Amino acid sequence: MTVTRFAPSPTGYLHVGNLRTALFNWMIARKAGGQFILRLDDTDPERSKPEFADAIKEDLEWLGLTWDRVETQSSRLDRYAAAADDLREKGRFYEAFETPTELDLKRKKQLNMGKPPVYDRAALSLSDGEKAALRAERSGHWRFLLDHERIEWVDGILGETSIDAASVSDPVLIRGDGQVLYTLASVVDDTEMGITDVVRGSDHVTNTATQIQIIEALGGKVPNFAHHSLLTGPQGEALSKRLGTLALRDLREKGVEPLALLSLMARLGSSDPVELRSSHQELIDGFELTHFGAAPTKFDAEDLFPLTARHLHTLPLDAVADEIAALGVPAELAERFWNVVRENITTRADMAGWWDVLSNGAEPLVDAEDAEFVATALGMLPDLPFDGNSWGAWTAAVKDATGRKGKGLFMPLRKALTGRARGPEMADFMSLMQAKPRA
Ligand code: GLU
Repeated sequence: MTVTRFAPSPTGYLHVGNLRTALFNWMIARKAGGQFILRLDDTDPERSKPEFADAIKEDLEWLGLTWDRVETQSSRLDRYAAAADDLREKGRFYEAFETPTELDLKRKKQLNMGKPPVYDRAALSLSDGEKAALRAERSGHWRFLLDHERIEWVDGILGETSIDAASVSDPVLIRGDGQVLYTLASVVDDTEMGITDVVRGSDHVTNTATQIQIIEALGGKVPNFAHHSLLTGPQGEALSKRLGTLALRDLREKGVEPLALLSLMARLGSSDPVELRSSHQELIDGFELTHFGAAPTKFDAEDLFPLTARHLHTLPLDAVADEIAALGVPAELAERFWNVVRENITTRADMAGWWDVLSNGAEPLVDAEDAEFVATALGMLPDLPFDGNSWGAWTAAVKDATGRKGKGLFMPLRKALTGRARGPEMADFMSLMQAKPRA
């Protein structure tokens, strides 16, 4: 069975970058009729916060990305300790004592000599006596002993991929203070939970190489790995600095609709067109991992708004009835109100502006050359309440009185009644007006 996981660290809010990872893994599982696990990578006790874990779940729920179960790494520390023992017994784990400053110095020296800054494995030549002496003054950390060979895999997006293990430092899996690091915890979880497919950002490619060796050392089955490109801004600029402002909750706050966001993120960076999809199933059915490319993917938050608007056009009254009622629209007008505004809003919040204009009267928008004409026309408005014939009758009367016709007649009248240059069918709009323009 296909089993995937989305493994955020609960150290912040989800943003568009991690949404892509979540969405790909979710679609793979759902397309295969498999399982999708939400795994909270919370082994860092200082930075992991329950409120972020809650926020991650809330954001995924908002998008309808349902999971089959939640796993938390902090509750599996015994499993990681057992794996560490296993690696120790197999001679693939060694204790090292360099402080961060010492390691930094080594790296600088290597770089000065034109060498890659790879850990020199000095700890491997320490005698037992030297280790004991070092242990007395500082706590050691634990590194995985890489086999110096070429690590190869067929990546679901990048294709044939290989990394020379000798170009990578032996990864630290347990810190001096005993904290288990992501690489070990992730490998143990992926193996023990039977994860079959892992999609993550291309910033993890080197991790993948080392993880493949650790999985093999532990006797696990290597999952299918795929690395999606990272997002950039519209001009190709790094997005990392702006991700804070592209948190999913901020997009929700700005009125972006879940299906609009998913429709964009499920296809952006692939050879398939970005189109509004009408359901999660449609997103899943058309998803092909192999259609995605390795090049950085440009993301522009502005693209979410036309998709949001198009999604709103499709909604039946039921989907917005509560919000319409909350605006104070009388129940008997709700359906007509929705039909009048649905194609003239970008987000749900825009409904309020239309109801304000309808219920309190618009502030007329009048071009200087139309001032006299509009004053005459407004003086000819019939008494409230208006109905479906009011617009036709009024404009015909204004035409007769002023001689204006066509655009020169209708546009100034639209602007006078709605306060805007663009909007709904005027006959429908006028029949819903509860007040005359405020002029
Ligand atoms: N917690 C890791 C991250 O957010 C998970 C990476 C992975 O998918 O293995 O980067």
